[in-house]
Amino acid sequence: MILTDKEVEDIIKELAGNHAVSLVMLIKDKENVSEFKLAEKLNLTVNQVRTILYELSAHNLVKFTRKKDKKKGWYIYFWTFDERRARELVVQSMKRKLEILESRLGLEKTGTFFACPGGCIRMTYENAMEVNFVCPECGKILVEKKSQRDAEVIRKDIEAIKNEIDRLSTPIVEEPVKVIKKRKKLKKKSKKKLKKKIKKLKRKIRKLKKKIKRLKREKRKIKKQRTKFKNRYGFNKNKKLMKKYFNKKFKRR
Ligand SMILES: [Zn+2]
Repeated sequence: MILTDKEVEDIIKELAGNHAVSLVMLIKDKENVSEFKLAEKLNLTVNQVRTILYELSAHNLVKFTRKKDKKKGWYIYFWTFDERRARELVVQSMKRKLEILESRLGLEKTGTFFACPGGCIRMTYENAMEVNFVCPECGKILVEKKSQRDAEVIRKDIEAIKNEIDRLSTPIVEEPVKVIKKRKKLKKKSKKKLKKKIKKLKRKIRKLKKKIKRLKREKRKIKKQRTKFKNRYGFNKNKKLMKKYFNKKFKRR
């Protein structure tokens, strides 16, 4: 999915309302999701889920396939999110935003404009004169504004939206089924290889453990022999004492 979660969320909110967002999040990276599963996950009735899905399909945002339940005799619907369509709609909505921003930028460029202090409206001097400098929405007196910084912010927003539209306009390349199958085969092969490798490594580890045991046994043997030897010749186990003993011997000479 090339759309970000935020973009999906925004467009779904805009077109189908807040309650549709969590449903879309559940199906957007999957295929053929059963409406019963959706109802279970969303803690809704199947009818509630269907209502949301119909709203989405009014914008062609979801597709379905259906299968007959042989035991119960009714149809079960499986739903898939149409990413291609979602992208189209996101780009459309961005273009609308772009238009608004560009017209606002044009206004800011003229230098001065009149704005409602309540934030309802902005207009040129000529238009403000026509309404006697009174906000037509709320009746407050319009104030004159000069805002270079606003223009800068708008320009940045415009650039960001243009970049995102570019990104979303790269065509979706659908992988042919053959390639997917091949890849699955390869995965299986590499799994087998990996298993073999793991077996080999385990064998090695077992061998090494045996070796370690053997070495430890030998070490113990050597230690035993050494203490036997020391005891026989009256040497103390303490190395310092042994050194002293040897030093004394050496000095006497
Ligand atoms: Zn106003």
